[in-house]
Amino acid sequence: MTGGSSPALGAGPSRTGPGDAVPTFRGPVDPAALGPTLVHEHVFVGHPELDLNHPHPEWDPDRAIEDAVERLTRLHGLGVRTVVDLTVLGLGRDVARLAAVAERVPLHLVAATGYYTADVLPAFFGTHGPGRPVGGPDPLVEFFVRDIEEGIAGTGVRAGMLKVVTDEPGITPDVARVMSAAAEAHVRTGVTITTHSRPASRTGPAQQEFLGARGVPPERIIIGHSGDSEDLDQLRALMDAGSTIGMDRFGMEHVLPDERRVATVLALLAEGYADRMVLSHDAACFSRVTPPSWRAVHAPHWHYENLSRRVLPMLRAGGASAADLHRMLVVNPARLLAPGPARRRHAPVAGAAPTPRPS
Ligand SMILES: [Zn+2]
Repeated sequence: MTGGSSPALGAGPSRTGPGDAVPTFRGPVDPAALGPTLVHEHVFVGHPELDLNHPHPEWDPDRAIEDAVERLTRLHGLGVRTVVDLTVLGLGRDVARLAAVAERVPLHLVAATGYYTADVLPAFFGTHGPGRPVGGPDPLVEFFVRDIEEGIAGTGVRAGMLKVVTDEPGITPDVARVMSAAAEAHVRTGVTITTHSRPASRTGPAQQEFLGARGVPPERIIIGHSGDSEDLDQLRALMDAGSTIGMDRFGMEHVLPDERRVATVLALLAEGYADRMVLSHDAACFSRVTPPSWRAVHAPHWHYENLSRRVLPMLRAGGASAADLHRMLVVNPARLLAPGPARRRHAPVAGAAPTPRPS
């Protein structure tokens, strides 16, 4: 990632004063010091209940940590300095396990909060929350805000990104509940929301509208998986409204070949959209959903090094400038990870107050 690893960070965000730090696994980092950043990745995607009862033959927790340390260290060697792990509830988030990786790698890891479901939530959420049998405030809001303000599961690691999902079923009642909770958490904390969208179902525009109606400025939304699409009109509209689009699945050639993903990025760069795109892989060291043996056969380039080794050279050959790459890999991620104005409005008093719990 030589072009993107330029130390010329002068084009970065100007707002870097105290209180504007980005939470990482090893503490707060100035946004201007994040460097080349992959904004949509995973380290371990699992399923704790399945793993407990029907362990996957390719999953060895101890070996997995060693493997992740090796992969992330190699990634640092290619110039990447920060990786955002968007593994939230529903994907088997295990922050303690990730902390064991983070303490041994030279790059910054950022945790996320949110809920990954394309349709329904587990039964717990059916009985908890306003108007439900057990009652109380919506636990989703409590979970998200606590993860951001206090830290995750007693680890002290605070989430630096929110994540929601809208896929083929659209904004189902439970998906709406997750997105509403994320919007409330955003309003209270200022943390940016990244989405999993499905451009073929036009869920990106729907997410922008739904979140916008609940107080989330489009500038604080990354419409993820936009790179799965070659529908330039849809992508331009998302960016013209203020959002950043995630060209974040390089290597997922079983969905769309990288050559075509690159062509879309180049077309939009030529139109001046460098400040509205971010690049990533949505890769993982281990995912039970598509395990390593499957990936090796069906998506051999779907790994952390694909951008540095294959995609950036393709972008450069197609005319992307060093400034374009710097913007997509350094400037835009720093802008989006920097705490937003909502955090200022509420912090420290209101934002730090515990959620009132009705009797
Ligand atoms: Zn993902």
